[in-house]
Amino acid sequence: MVTKTSTPKSSSKSKTKATPVAHPASGALIHGQPAYQEKANEEYMSAEQKAHFRSILEAWKRELMEEVDRTLHYMQDESANLPDPVDRASQEEEFSLELRTRDRERKLIRKIDDTLKCIDEDDYGYCLTCGEKIGIRRLEARPTATLCIDCKTLAEIKEKQLQG
Ligand SMILES: [Zn+2]
Repeated sequence: MVTKTSTPKSSSKSKTKATPVAHPASGALIHGQPAYQEKANEEYMSAEQKAHFRSILEAWKRELMEEVDRTLHYMQDESANLPDPVDRASQEEEFSLELRTRDRERKLIRKIDDTLKCIDEDDYGYCLTCGEKIGIRRLEARPTATLCIDCKTLAEIKEKQLQG
């Protein structure tokens, strides 16, 4: 006798509760990751730190890719033949704005990919200009940063001078 009862596993839905990580400072998450808590005497860009930034960058990239995807579908759905030329014009304007935003996001995704490569090659976290440590906190605020704050500030001043 064959019993064909497929009992739905309703109990399997119990969520695996993530153990709350103690981060006393602020609970602000960086792309879903809590801020890094450095251990005493921890080496800069230790394997753990690299893993931390890799998670941040990968989560950020996923967010951006979802965003790009969403817009694409949105535009496909919305690009109906609008009879009113005014509606059409405003839709075109809206789309071109969206496309510019997507373009920026795609560039950012490329930059994130470059940064991930940098982590692979053990170059991450050091200033491209002076070779100094960029620092955990600055990298958390700007995970794709390639310059330390001093060199960045200098570069910005120079840029302004060139423009002015
Ligand atoms: Zn520097």
